[in-house]
Parts: sequence; C-alpha cells; structure tokens
Amino acid sequence: MPTDLVTKSGHNKTKRTRTETPEHRRSRAAAILRLLKKEFPHPATALLHGNPFQLLIATILSAQCTDERVNKVTPGLFRKYPTVRAFAEANPAELEQDIRSTGFFRMKTKSIIACSTALLEKHGGVVPNTIEDLVQLPGVGRKTANVVLGQAFGIASGVVVDTHVHRLSQRMAFTDADDPERIEQDLRSIFPQKDWIDVGSILIFHGRRTCVARNPRCAECAVCELCPSAGSFLRNNP
Ligand code: SF4
Repeated sequence: MPTDLVTKSGHNKTKRTRTETPEHRRSRAAAILRLLKKEFPHPATALLHGNPFQLLIATILSAQCTDERVNKVTPGLFRKYPTVRAFAEANPAELEQDIRSTGFFRMKTKSIIACSTALLEKHGGVVPNTIEDLVQLPGVGRKTANVVLGQAFGIASGVVVDTHVHRLSQRMAFTDADDPERIEQDLRSIFPQKDWIDVGSILIFHGRRTCVARNPRCAECAVCELCPSAGSFLRNNP
C-alpha cells in the first residue's frame, strides 16, 4: 500500500510506491471518476459568463477568491465593461474599485487590462482557442487557459490543476509531484483525453464538498475504498 505523509501545511500527501502498476492506477482512477461522476453529473464551472472572454476575466478574478464572490461582481462588471476594448481602455483606479472585493485587486486589474490589450493587438479582440496562444496572454497561466479551453470551447487540451486538484491528486496517489505542470502531466497520463475536462471540474467539486483541505470527510466519501489516504484521515478523525 502507498505510505502516507502529512506535510507542514497539514495536507496529507500519499507517496506512491512501486506496488501499484500504471495499469492498476489507471483502472483505479477510472473507477474513482465513475463514482464521482454520479455525485457531480454536470460538472460545469460555476463562474457566470456569457462568452469565452467573460470566462477568461472571471477566471482571472477567481484567483484566491471563491466563485460565489466572483459571481457577485461579474454581472455588474460585464454590464459596465461590455467589450474587450472597454476593459483594455478602463481607468485602472476605477477598475480596481470595481473588482476590489475579489482580493488582489491591483494585480488583477493590471492582468485584465494587459490581457485585454493583448487580445486587441494580437488576436483582433477574439479569445484564441489554443493553449499556446492563451498562455502568452498577460495574467494567463495553464490553469486559466485550461479552464477557458475546456469550459468555453469544449477543447480538452489539458487538465485544470488548481489548489483542490493539486491536493486531491496527491491524496488519491495519482501523483507524487508538487509542481502543477508535473501533476497535470501525471493526470494526463492516467486519464483518457476525453475525460480531461471533467477530471479537473469533478476534483474541484469533490475538494470543496468532501475532500476539504483540513479534516476531509473520508467517512462519507464516495471513493473512500479506492483512496489510499482514507485510512490515515479516518485514524486521525475516527
Ligand atoms: S477518502 Fe475521500 S475525502 Fe478522504 S482523502 Fe480520500 S478522496 Fe479525500
């Protein structure tokens, strides 16, 4: 069985051992996904948006912020700034106040204005639909790019790795990496490409509801019997 490690942050990290073959891991992962799909049959992003550009802005705003908080801000924001050009030409001080409640508002304002400007200058104001073009935009990393590609375009170019996917992938022993890009590589090798969009969304939902950062609810978890970390959390929280 894999061995359990508890990191300084209190997150359980399960170290893979040589006892699980890649084939077994893939089949265990498929079983986990099947069970979680029953819990989350419609795992679309909760971020409100009407087009790929609005999802891009909402995803930038969602960094270090809840979707609920972002969704309180974006309807008014998208009415006030209805186009890419409107965001590109926004008054920075005013935009900062408009998005202040989402946190890190100065950095997000810079990203939104720079990203919108780059979209106008390099892509005719249209959000590109390739990972290569998206990650070139200011403020857009692989996580944001994968959210936009998967949720707005239906393109499975990669797996979204946010803090929940990071934590759950380690607990479920899908990876022993800490770097999000390496975690994404491991997930891409475990799950078939047709599932890449759902894997990210479903792990995020499961991480919010059940496999929370502190004291995960293993006793009520649908995949408890397939998760090598369950034992250590159940021992700690009988
Ligand atoms: S059993 Fe479920 S809740 Fe517990 S660590 Fe594993 S995935 Fe998370």
